[in-house]
Amino acid sequence: MATATVFNAIVGQPHASRLLKTFIRNGTLPHALLFTGDAGVGKKTTATAFAMACNCLKLKSAIRHHRPHLDAVDACGDCGPCRKIAENHHPDIIRVAPLSSVIRIAQIRTLLKALTLKPNEADRRVVILSDAQAMNPEAGNALLKVLEEPPDRTLLVLTARQTSDLLPTIVSRCQHIRFSPLRAADIKQLLAAAGGIEPESIEAVAALCGGSYSRAVKLIDSRWLNRRDWIIQAMGSQMADHGELGVRAWLAWSEILAKKKDLIEESLEIITMWLRDMLVFRTDPHRVLNQDRLEALSTAAKQVSQTQVLQQIDAVDCALTALRSNTNARLTLDAMALQMAGACLR
Ligand SMILES: [Zn+2]
Repeated sequence: MATATVFNAIVGQPHASRLLKTFIRNGTLPHALLFTGDAGVGKKTTATAFAMACNCLKLKSAIRHHRPHLDAVDACGDCGPCRKIAENHHPDIIRVAPLSSVIRIAQIRTLLKALTLKPNEADRRVVILSDAQAMNPEAGNALLKVLEEPPDRTLLVLTARQTSDLLPTIVSRCQHIRFSPLRAADIKQLLAAAGGIEPESIEAVAALCGGSYSRAVKLIDSRWLNRRDWIIQAMGSQMADHGELGVRAWLAWSEILAKKKDLIEESLEIITMWLRDMLVFRTDPHRVLNQDRLEALSTAAKQVSQTQVLQQIDAVDCALTALRSNTNARLTLDAMALQMAGACLR
C-alpha cells in the first residue's frame, strides 16, 4: 500500500478534519477553501487528505450506498486515485508553491491555462496553492478570475499564515478553515513516530516549537539544542561576573555569535526566548518554554532584576532590527553585548 495521507492519520486538527469530512459526505463542497495557521501545523497534509477523500473510489461508493458515520468518511489509501495522489503523480492534483519565496503571475497563468481544459480522470480536480501570501499582487488578481468563475469539477485549496496576508477579495471568495497550533502532546507523538530521536530532545523541542511540527524538526536537525545550551551557559556565567572581565566575556561571546552569519537571527531568537523565560519563571513557571532547563533558569532569574532583563530584551530587539536593515553584524552584536553587560552593572 502507498504511504497514504488520510484524515484519520492527521494529528491535532480535529476541527478541520470534521468540517471537510462533512462537506464530502453531504456533497456540499465549496469551490474554494482557505486553510490558515502557522507553518508546520498540517495544512498541506490536510489538503492532500482532502484531495484523496474527494477522489477515493471506495469512499465514493460508501457515500452513494449509505450515509457513513463521519469517522468512516476517509480515503481508503489503496484504490487507484488514492495511490496516485499519495505518490504525487495524479494528473488532476495540481500543486502551486512559491519559487524563491514568491508565487509569480507566470505560475498563475500556467494554472489558468491548465484549468481551461477538463480534468483528465479525476472526479474532483484539486488545486493546492500553498503559501498563498507569497503571491505578488498581479498573481493574486489573476487568481481572482478562477475564484469568481470556478471551472467545472475543480476545487481550490489555498493555504496561508493568516487572512490579513491576502487580498480581501480572495478571502471573501473562500470557505475559511482555521488550523490551530499543535499541542505539545501531538508534537511528541509525531516526533516519537518519526523515530531515532532521544526522549530528552523530544521533551525539550515539544515545549519550544510553538506548536509547529516543521519547526520542531528544524530544531532537532539544526543542532539547535546544542547552540541553545551553549548560549544559556555563557549568558549565565557572564551575568554572574559584573567586573571588567565580565564585559570582556560578553564581547568574546558576541564575537562567536557573529561568526556564524546564517545562524545569527536564530541565536538572537534563543537569547530572547531565554530572557522571556527569566521573566515568566518568576510568576508563571508552567508557561516557561525551556521546560528542560528550569534549574538553570532558576539560578539565572536570581542573578538579575526584572528591569535588567527588560533592558537586555530591548538590546536584543534593537540588534535584530538593525541586522534586518543590513548593518555590520559584528558591530551590531558588540553593541548589543555591551548594552547587555551594562544592564547587569546597573
Ligand atoms: Zn481510495
